[in-house]
Amino acid sequence: MRRLTSAFLGVLTAIGIFLLPSAPAAAAEVNLAPSATASASYTSPWESVAAINDGIDPPRSNDTVNRRWGTWPQTGAQWAELTWASAQTLRSAQVYFFDDGGGVRVPASWRLQRWTGSAYADLPGTYPVAADAYNTVTFAQVSTTRLRVVLQSGQASVGLLEVKAIGENGRQSGWNPPGNLVTPLNEVWQHQESTYPNLYGFRNYGWDQIMANRGSINYCVRWDSGATVSAALRDQIHAALARQFKKWMDVMRGHNNWPYADVPLKVVGWAVRDRAQLQWNDNSVDIYVGDIRENAPQCAQACGRFFNQGGTYPNCPGGASHHYDMSLWLTAGMGGGAGGDWGQRLGSEYFVNSLNADDIHILLHEIGHSFGLDDFYDWTPTGVCCFLMKAGSAAQITEFDAWMFRDWWRHLKSRYGY
Ligand SMILES: [Zn+2]
Repeated sequence: MRRLTSAFLGVLTAIGIFLLPSAPAAAAEVNLAPSATASASYTSPWESVAAINDGIDPPRSNDTVNRRWGTWPQTGAQWAELTWASAQTLRSAQVYFFDDGGGVRVPASWRLQRWTGSAYADLPGTYPVAADAYNTVTFAQVSTTRLRVVLQSGQASVGLLEVKAIGENGRQSGWNPPGNLVTPLNEVWQHQESTYPNLYGFRNYGWDQIMANRGSINYCVRWDSGATVSAALRDQIHAALARQFKKWMDVMRGHNNWPYADVPLKVVGWAVRDRAQLQWNDNSVDIYVGDIRENAPQCAQACGRFFNQGGTYPNCPGGASHHYDMSLWLTAGMGGGAGGDWGQRLGSEYFVNSLNADDIHILLHEIGHSFGLDDFYDWTPTGVCCFLMKAGSAAQITEFDAWMFRDWWRHLKSRYGY
């Protein structure tokens, strides 16, 4: 369960320019669209309704670079909507129209609707129809699980490039742990500050990675094993990793102006010694063969955040969208684990045998390290006995672990403009 300190020290000497992500316009507001599921009345087969809440600001209405939602050749009333798993409090929306000057044009008119639980109800407001810009509509605060954009076509079919649903998600500001945890939390922070002189200078915590991606995380799997992997096992590994990562992200939801209701995790690549170990032919992930580092297969350095801490990936074969922030390094025969800004390492057999476990506790512990949490081999904070980061004393994220995690955000958030 050791923290692989050498990796942290290794990057301290790396020269890189850290690009501070642009600060949010107002910390009191958050775009809730990325945590919704998008659907539509109709989508042209070559377009994608998922474009409307992928968080990408379009360069112009005739966007030829990013995904788009379009309805060509359908005309008349068309809609796209966002559906959340739970009710969201919304105050305004921003809509960017798709207009290619031909078969898809800005609509003649449009409106927003919310789902009342039994019907769609119009949201009264002023609805501008501008190309090459977000069209903002402000309305009286509503709570709903669905926001629908209804477009009435004009000269051609219609489409959208992005929809932002602005509201709040019960976010609290400030730091409000249970009273009995204040002393041990302050002890932990002081201990970390005195143990790691570059605590605040380091720029590749999991926090930095998520903020650089504006709310998502990418992984590459280092398959350090001779075993074969079926497509089904690949997908189970992805799902298990995402479920465990989400446990830490759920700790942050709604806390102290943390801006993301969800942090989607994507496995973008696999590294192996021999391509024949991977028993699939689809191209859903990038595959790296025989690139050995630390005596284990690795994914392309040109695509790895650890090697490109400026956050740009000019030499990554698939482009920046194929970059990975962390590696999930699965080693045959390994007990315990290691974690750092580069990712997490643990036994491949342990992980495969734990795929359906509620808590893959070694992975959870090592992800904690990736976000800066320390080990507790030689001391225990006052009044707390058992928690995940004190190896062997707990097998899940405890309230104390959760508050140590939140404490990192408390101390780093100003770095991102919060
Ligand atoms: Zn550890």
